[in-house]
Amino acid sequence: MSTDKKLGTKIIHFGGEIDKTTGASSVPIYQASTFHHFSLDNPPEFDYSRSGNPTRQALEDYIALLEGGARGFAFASGMAAISSAFFLLSSGDHVICTEDVYGGTYRLLTAILTRMNIETTFVDMTDPEKVKAALKPNTKAVFLETPSNPTLKITDISVICAWAKENGLLTMLDNSFMTPYHQRPIEQGVDIVLHSATKFLSGHSDVLAGLAVVANESLGRRMKQIQNGLGNVLGPQDSWLLMRGMKTLKVRMEGSEQNARRLAEWLDSHPAVEAVYYPGLPGHPGREIHEKQSSGYGAVVSFDVNGGERARKLLSEVKIPLVAVSLGAVESILSYPAMMSHAAMSREVRLERGITDGLVRYSVGLEDIDDIIADLDAALSHLQG
Ligand SMILES: *Cc1c(COP(=O)(O)O)cnc(C)c1O
Repeated sequence: MSTDKKLGTKIIHFGGEIDKTTGASSVPIYQASTFHHFSLDNPPEFDYSRSGNPTRQALEDYIALLEGGARGFAFASGMAAISSAFFLLSSGDHVICTEDVYGGTYRLLTAILTRMNIETTFVDMTDPEKVKAALKPNTKAVFLETPSNPTLKITDISVICAWAKENGLLTMLDNSFMTPYHQRPIEQGVDIVLHSATKFLSGHSDVLAGLAVVANESLGRRMKQIQNGLGNVLGPQDSWLLMRGMKTLKVRMEGSEQNARRLAEWLDSHPAVEAVYYPGLPGHPGREIHEKQSSGYGAVVSFDVNGGERARKLLSEVKIPLVAVSLGAVESILSYPAMMSHAAMSREVRLERGITDGLVRYSVGLEDIDDIIADLDAALSHLQG
């Protein structure tokens, strides 16, 4: 696939959409752990499925094309992709990370990598000066997540990356909320893009997967060694299922975003709602920066209903969304960060980061928006008084 086509076309014609040997209309699921050596002198392209599998390879090439990177890697989960990227670091290294990072990444950095003698400083990345102030002699990497989870704060990707480059730091960015359809961080200077493909990329709440895309071939060789060495690869069936989901990325991202914009505006004027976090709202402090680096606002809207009791009541009253951990699916998903995705954080740290007891996160699906609003309106009416 030539790279001059528009993204919507690349999503469909990514190079692996036709099986090279039979012309079949999808990549076959190569359910094999190993590959026969027809000749010992000419070893086969694929040798053993941990090191490489044709179905997984098609997915890896697919995500590399969409992100505009040199090479892609598929992992067993988003956390497997993120933790593999951190294996590029060594004992004694220091990381600067956005403070309202995904809860699982926070747990990895604070409870696991600390034992490997990798330390992290969490900073408010909406202010580049705070990032610069966190630099230490042993700083090796900067981890960004924008919009952040669950408070949708915006980091200026190109400003942070330019500074990181000057200081020889590796940059990694969790792009799960935006997907390459709305935001391509490698074009803005990021070295490694990471995804929980469990979310918008797969889009149907039926596969757990992670993806990484690196900006250049030398990082590609290092990531390949890590993926093969850790063995946390995505299996061929899930690789196929993920590609199946990715083919509809454009219409799903557009449809759910359109719904999310309507929902955010409606919530913003609702008396039972204390605050709404959505980068598409006129009052969002990061809106201008977000618009500079992304082509859409995404489908995640967080809002504060003022107190844990009221949040619990809301979760028990809604009829349309799945009340669950996760996001980015055809169906709406309402989650409660304080008790779900960010339960690994102490209450004190959580409150410091704006993840209050009244904060809920609505991942807007593809249902009719009028029904989503009517459902929430009925649920919110039970909170009055
Ligand atoms: C869900 C999520 C992850 C973790 O991905 P898994 O596939 O659950 O391992 C990482 N980052 C973000 C932003 C997420 O939403």
